[in-house]
Amino acid sequence: MKIAMLSPECSPIAKVGGLADVVIGLSKSLQLQGHNVSIILPKYDCMRYDQISDLETVYYDLPVMYRGEWHANDVMSGIVEGVKCYFIDAKWYKNFFNRGKIYGENDDTDRFAFFTKAAMEFMFKVGMEPDIIHSHDWPTALANVLQREIYYKEGMRKPRLVYTVHNFAHQGIAHESVLGDLGVNSGVLPLECRENDYSVVNFMKSAVVYSDYVTTVSPNYANEVQLTEKGMGLQYLLNKYHHKFSGILNGIDDEYWNPKDDQYLSHHYDAKTIEKKYKNKEVLRERFLLRDEYKPIVAVVSRLVQQKGVDLIKHSIFYALEQGAQFVLLGSSPDPQISYEFSEIKAMLNDNPDCHLEFGFNEALSHLVYAGADMILIPSLFEPCGLTQLIGMRYGTVPVARFTGGLADTVHDVEYSRVAQKRRNGYTFIDANKAGLEFALGRAIDDWFNEPQQFRELVMNGMESDFSWKMSAKKYVKIYKYLHSRV
Ligand code: ADP
Repeated sequence: MKIAMLSPECSPIAKVGGLADVVIGLSKSLQLQGHNVSIILPKYDCMRYDQISDLETVYYDLPVMYRGEWHANDVMSGIVEGVKCYFIDAKWYKNFFNRGKIYGENDDTDRFAFFTKAAMEFMFKVGMEPDIIHSHDWPTALANVLQREIYYKEGMRKPRLVYTVHNFAHQGIAHESVLGDLGVNSGVLPLECRENDYSVVNFMKSAVVYSDYVTTVSPNYANEVQLTEKGMGLQYLLNKYHHKFSGILNGIDDEYWNPKDDQYLSHHYDAKTIEKKYKNKEVLRERFLLRDEYKPIVAVVSRLVQQKGVDLIKHSIFYALEQGAQFVLLGSSPDPQISYEFSEIKAMLNDNPDCHLEFGFNEALSHLVYAGADMILIPSLFEPCGLTQLIGMRYGTVPVARFTGGLADTVHDVEYSRVAQKRRNGYTFIDANKAGLEFALGRAIDDWFNEPQQFRELVMNGMESDFSWKMSAKKYVKIYKYLHSRV
């Protein structure tokens, strides 16, 4: 099948979080299974151009109608990790994609609404006619409205619309004039796509209503968002449309995340040569100036935002040190208050030889942290799927995670899980408070010191699990095919 992915992120060229990993990982796996995949992205100034090959302009001056005027855009193509990507260069107006960052601008809803219009226009003009247009999260949600309200009527009849929600917390909210800007008569948009103030459009609700199928990134999160406040106001809508909604667990790109030949590691290993993992522990200690003592390293690799349980992460630093472990953090925050709080802790622990906090987004360093640590901590308040526990396990690093969303689907507690012994791979806790966190992290550190055999079994169970995209990509294909089997 011919699949067009519309996304604001794609690893490794434009990454903020897991969405970037998912888009490339799923696309590669679909391609391996014989499908023809293209990814359409904005052409940001801050992309990793060194990771794109064969970059060339394939369409000059693509006219896009926006705010009642035609505006010219160039479209480039290039290859990322073996997948064909198209980049929309909105060269004309307000420097939409030359802001040095992907999100966080006051006009984000305009920027991405414009991008979806340009992407749809490009597909239409070149006659791409994919079987599936697969859009992701709020930034590309309006593609579903555009297809039904404009391009279907113009004759682009073939594409079926699949929409994946990676996080219900960010929905894309804007005045209905955003539709007029794109050439859609805002009067056609049903009330269920709007907020209580009907003049305000909710991008995510619109995509849920307009697309042919909606997925989210784990089965457990799919239940949570229908049944609890984790749906962030979309519970009713998701229940209404439950017949076209399900959760498909994310995978990881097991070629890219592979300790056996990871480009960022100097010591490679797999389950059979696990001793070599501990060379990476030495490198990590050297890099972070930690002392070389018989202690486990607890790691956090995360965006530092409330969702990730920042208060619990802060508490875990002191708790892990108290329990005789070392602690490392690689994190970045868009929130100045949270950044300030962590920098205060860093200053306080500056001379501590068992702790290092590193701020910023650093892809290469994240690989060393996964390889060098013994445990990866994910105390999220909610977590649609979570990738760091999966990457951790691939690198023989045992997850300690809150039992929520996709973490509950993938991390199975050594004592309390109902799955078979062989599939138990970590430590979980339910209560999002200090006692909950200590219950799981305390057991993990204690087992590392006192039950090394049991701890090692968890390492092996994690490393031997299959978290690749293979199975999940097949589930997406089943949906794609199902949509085309209906007339
Ligand atoms: P989310 O998408 O909510 O941020 P996920 O667990 O789904 O969380 O995905 C996080 C991805 O971002 C992982 O690939 C992780 O390694 C990466 N990541 C998070 N923070 C950093 C950082 N500071 N530096 C490098 N990579 C990071």
